[in-house]
Amino acid sequence: MNVAVPTLDLASRPTPLVDPFARAITYLRVSVTDRCDFRCVYCMSEHMAFLPKADLLTLEELDRLCSAFVDKGVRKLRLTGGEPLVRRGIMTLFGSLSRHLRSGALEELTLTTNGSQLTRYAAELKACGVERVNVSLDTLDPDKFRAITRWGELDKVLAGIDAAQAAGLKVKINAVALKGVNEDELAALVRWAHGRGMDLTIIEVMPLGDIGEDRLAQYLPLSMVRSRLSESFTLEDIDHRTGGPARYVQVKETGGRLGFITPLTHNFCESCNRVRVTCTGTLYMCLGQEDAADLRSPLRASESNDRLYQAIDEAITRKPKGHDFVIDRRHQRPALSRHMSVTGG
Ligand code: SAM
Repeated sequence: MNVAVPTLDLASRPTPLVDPFARAITYLRVSVTDRCDFRCVYCMSEHMAFLPKADLLTLEELDRLCSAFVDKGVRKLRLTGGEPLVRRGIMTLFGSLSRHLRSGALEELTLTTNGSQLTRYAAELKACGVERVNVSLDTLDPDKFRAITRWGELDKVLAGIDAAQAAGLKVKINAVALKGVNEDELAALVRWAHGRGMDLTIIEVMPLGDIGEDRLAQYLPLSMVRSRLSESFTLEDIDHRTGGPARYVQVKETGGRLGFITPLTHNFCESCNRVRVTCTGTLYMCLGQEDAADLRSPLRASESNDRLYQAIDEAITRKPKGHDFVIDRRHQRPALSRHMSVTGG
């Protein structure tokens, strides 16, 4: 399908983003750093080579880039990483982006975090207009937590969750289902999260990046997780949608919501409304495909945003219909060479 790319017109107003499959792009996820204070075994290898700091967009450039997407109709902005809260000065970016909440241009400014820095930043995030945070937590066992994250301290994360709730932030927990690691614990995680008034989403492990371990060994299809959980709970399908790929059930016994993100066993691309930008200004139109567009050059080429808008428009004409992740015995290598920490999970 051919989509006309607007020509450079200095007087033009930014136009909304609609891809070749008539999906409106209203959600941007921005990886503000590829660095993290943890090294989760399914996410990174132990000795990751991180980007030189000089390659990163500055906080001012990240603000300009995000704001250009807001100009083009993005209504929801999520900062992620790497660990977004380890980027130096990150609160300046939250603070400056909050003007789009006040103006009404943006509906939601949020983040995905491992929670390790929340005791320090929760109140400030709330003051910047952040209402909800996603905290990634795969286990409540301190030893397992250390093994999964390679050196993280569970207590710090739990204190971060306390701080977030005390600051009035709504917390959703994201847990990756890992075969032989936390599969026995998922029912306990449901009870714990729901007992604290938090939704829980369970995520299937995705084949992103070389992690120095065997993906098949980690892979646990959520169909199995769901049937195991059905032995402990009554799971009722509900229509709740957050604009994301999760499909939700209500857990009758806890009264809480449980989401499943199943990129491998169930494809969720048909309603995709999102794109991702890395901390170097590379735009990925799909988490599961290699095609990308460089936005750093048009951003730096001129103080006007026209080239940037044009580069974004052109890239959106190439947004693919979907991804095709596969983990099976014939596909032991990563489906994609880049790690989740680069594209932003
Ligand atoms: N550091 C932040 C955090 O821990 O939430 C944000 C970045 S992290 C890459 C975002 C999410 O991606 C986390 O929930 C993490 O568990 C998940 N993730 C990382 N690699 C993954 C993979 N290969 N498959 C599925 N989820 C993955």
